[in-house]
Amino acid sequence: MTRRLSGKVALITGGAGGCGLAASERFAAEGAKVGIVDLPRSDGEAVAQRLCDAGHQAIFAPADVSDAGQVEQAVKAVEDAFGAITVLMNHAGILAAVPFLETSEEEWDRVMAVNVKSMFLVSKAVLPGMIAAGGGSIICTSSISGVVGTPMEVLYCTSKGACHMFARALAVEFRDRGIRSNAICPGFIATAHGLREIETLTRHGVDVSEAAIASAQGRLCKPEEVAAAALFLASDDASFVNGAQLFADNGYTAI
Ligand code: NAD
Repeated sequence: MTRRLSGKVALITGGAGGCGLAASERFAAEGAKVGIVDLPRSDGEAVAQRLCDAGHQAIFAPADVSDAGQVEQAVKAVEDAFGAITVLMNHAGILAAVPFLETSEEEWDRVMAVNVKSMFLVSKAVLPGMIAAGGGSIICTSSISGVVGTPMEVLYCTSKGACHMFARALAVEFRDRGIRSNAICPGFIATAHGLREIETLTRHGVDVSEAAIASAQGRLCKPEEVAAAALFLASDDASFVNGAQLFADNGYTAI
């Protein structure tokens, strides 16, 4: 296998589960030193150990990415272990699928904190080192929900729309310092998050049956397919790709 991330230090939030786990594994296999930032109760420690046992370099730095103090500590732990972070994948995120009029203020604040504020906190902590290192790549996991409205997902869609503009505005502000910032926008994925989303939407009467998913995107996306798209954005192959939205949705949004 080619080693497309040799010499890079990657921090992946939500890197212990779902597509974040797939990215931790793929980025490590491509030669990156990987800092997995995920909740303390996650599988992060075991994932890092497994990667090290396979001959890669990885550490687990636990944090709730919506908490500034925990984020600062986790970023420092990764920098102390591996040096400046040159690839940041802002991937951690949570689902909200609830009728708009039943959405509580607490739920609104929590989803916006985990899906949006986290990108602000983690990127702000990582950027000084990335700039000092001469540049890097930031990948923000958005969704088709950043451009497509789904009933019961006003809150989730709002959070993903914010991810788009976060990635684009960062790209413009930091382009002259060698930083690229892009959004990756998957369709429905076969992960805990995606399967829970399908179950919850079905409960609320939204048609996300196998037939409806097949009609919109052929089949469920695999976590490895999101990781492969993120790998492109992380690698120097994407050296002139900046401020873009890369849809990994098999044409869902192309119609
Ligand atoms: P997942 O639920 O399988 O994994 C998410 C990971 O993030 C878990 O390891 C979890 O522990 C971690 N995490 C959750 N909250 C956290 C927090 N506060 N701090 C640190 N880590 C936290 O999910 P996934 O399918 O990989 O999805 C994650 C991202 O992908 C989200 O941003 C989501 O919006 C986006 N996404 C998912 C789908 C889908 O269908 N699964 C589609 C489009 C976009």
